Amino acid sequence: MEIDAAREVRTTCPYCGVGCGVLAKVAADGQVSVRGDPDHPANFGRLCSKGSALAETIDLDGRLLHPEIDGRRAGWDEALDRVASTFSQTIAEHGPDSVAFYVSGQLLTEDYYVANKLMKGFVGSANIDTNSRLCMASSVAGHRRAFGSDTVPGTYEDLELADLIVLVGSNLAWCHPVLYQRIAAAREKRPEMKIVLVDPRRTMTADIADMHLAIAPDGDVALFTGLLAYLGQHNALDRAYVTERTTGFGQALLAASTLDLAGVAEATGLSEDELGRFYSLFARTEKTVTVYSQGVNQSSSGTDKVNAIINCHLATGRIGKPGAGPFSVTGQPNAMGGREVGGMANMLAAHMEIENPAHRARVRRFWNAPALAEQPGLKAVDMFKAVADGRIKALWIMATNPVDSMPDADAVEAAIKACPFVVVSDVLASTDTVRHAHVRLPATAWGEKDGTVTNSERRISRQRAFLPAPGEARPDWWIVAEVARLMGFGQGFAHVTPAQIFAEHAALSAYENDGARDFDIGAYAGIEAEEYDALAPFQWPEKDGQAARSPSTRFFANGNFYTPDGKARFIPIRPVAETRTDEKFSLILNTGRVRDHWHTMTRTGKSPRLSQHIAEPFAEIHPADAQHFGIGDADIVRISSPRGEVLVRALVTSRQRQGSLFAPMHWTDQFAAKGRLDALTASLTDPVSGQPALKHVAVRIERFAAK
Ligand code: SF4
Repeated sequence: MEIDAAREVRTTCPYCGVGCGVLAKVAADGQVSVRGDPDHPANFGRLCSKGSALAETIDLDGRLLHPEIDGRRAGWDEALDRVASTFSQTIAEHGPDSVAFYVSGQLLTEDYYVANKLMKGFVGSANIDTNSRLCMASSVAGHRRAFGSDTVPGTYEDLELADLIVLVGSNLAWCHPVLYQRIAAAREKRPEMKIVLVDPRRTMTADIADMHLAIAPDGDVALFTGLLAYLGQHNALDRAYVTERTTGFGQALLAASTLDLAGVAEATGLSEDELGRFYSLFARTEKTVTVYSQGVNQSSSGTDKVNAIINCHLATGRIGKPGAGPFSVTGQPNAMGGREVGGMANMLAAHMEIENPAHRARVRRFWNAPALAEQPGLKAVDMFKAVADGRIKALWIMATNPVDSMPDADAVEAAIKACPFVVVSDVLASTDTVRHAHVRLPATAWGEKDGTVTNSERRISRQRAFLPAPGEARPDWWIVAEVARLMGFGQGFAHVTPAQIFAEHAALSAYENDGARDFDIGAYAGIEAEEYDALAPFQWPEKDGQAARSPSTRFFANGNFYTPDGKARFIPIRPVAETRTDEKFSLILNTGRVRDHWHTMTRTGKSPRLSQHIAEPFAEIHPADAQHFGIGDADIVRISSPRGEVLVRALVTSRQRQGSLFAPMHWTDQFAAKGRLDALTASLTDPVSGQPALKHVAVRIERFAAK
């Protein structure tokens, strides 16, 4: 590829689900610079610290530049042939469910589409799951239960129009900084806007909040079922909406009424006065948006938490209206794109359902794929358990580092080590996962590849290449399609550009005959290379080309949902108290993120500027707990669970709830001695969504050495 030093390329940030537009430029001397795209509707020119430092993270240090087999350099032909022949042989000997793909919200939609098509359509197994399972699966499950589809109703604009924003389990200031900046700017213009933060910790986001509810870990179900009961008792329901547009309200209210206010106070650790003030504010504020992310999703009751929140919005008719609605914000840059193409083990392409025979028939016909999987596959945690017990014999990991990021990481590493055949396609040569691969395939990185991503408000934006692919690196979609061809499925993988894949994906989304659907980008079914090159950010649905011309698209404004009767469903939820701590492991560890690092630091760890913010792993501990365990500020402490241990620095702070610790998940043993936090976490998951409970881990703490 030729570099035009005079041209700024419009692309999209590869970090979080805000999906900010970036303008990237390569100077004549090869130096790359970036700035926020003033015309992108997600950020209007803003970038956070991570986005601003993108140019510092794209050097070739540590890059995987050539295919490798068993640690030796190999050519593409040999490497692809080894992958295709081993997968084919394993399937022939042990059946399609003996192989699996573990993919990533870092993949572009086109990569995701092709990988999903190969596994579900042609291998005939649904054993493809994604690290987005760790990020938003509970929201997906909650949406499907309530709306009949995985539809995010709202838009970023709603955050600026709301009179009340309730942030639940979401440290927006650090994890979605540009959304936080947009809210802060809106609040400056409208000081009457109220913000409530529901979080066990007093995070940086609390700085903007009028009320911080320092809730007990996993108290959210009790908080929102208590709110539903309060709305019922205080005549704050939209009775016409409930009657005409929903079902199941009576059962939901009955279930919610099992706790009185004192019971909710006990379950949430909040005072009755705090509850009363929050409930009253919610009840009287029509324009309310409830934003939630990992603190809600990463829980053994994550799906119930999501539905408890949605129930309150349905009960008040606050959905599908400007400045009102439940709003799940995604962690990864393309978690939403992965959902669109069915890159999860329990979904089909184009938001269709694998359990629905009509949907399977449509996809089978469209792909000409008679072997299409008929059953959901293994979700992430179960997939690695199947690797451990030998059911999965060939595993392909794309663009992610499960050895450091999956719960019970030591067990996951042991499983990968013991797996007879492991392929990793990645940008880097030496992550803790790449190290265990039999075949390593070099993939192109951000800035070198073309495709699309979808952000938290369903806005599809282009990622565009502005650098040449280094060494022999290739786009992920190309690698998967080549393997598919060698496995004998060439007819389904004749694409030669990402534009062709996007056009096919768009065509599959445009369907008339099997019921109303939410995801529809049929307007792009025939998109040509030039139009794809110039594609401006747009929100789905975009059936007929109209949406691109309107500033934002909001779902459910007409009160119609995607359930068979067109009505939204209340889900009856009873708060269940759960104790995971015991005498030996008496503290609850909450894992999370810091402002300037991303995931396992494979990219942000390259920037000294980003590491200046927080230079080493730490654990926040309440002063009373610190005193109880004989720990001083800045001591090195050992945190252990029944599965493993880490050494981190203690940060004694009353921002932390008593009885709980907080530690960030980014540092691994590559960046700190005994830094891998997921060695502690458990493989306990939400029973509906399969999302791991990464924010509630029973641990103990002790001083390791004096400072
Ligand atoms: Fe990138 Fe998210 Fe920061 Fe925007 S807010 S610049 S998408 S990391």
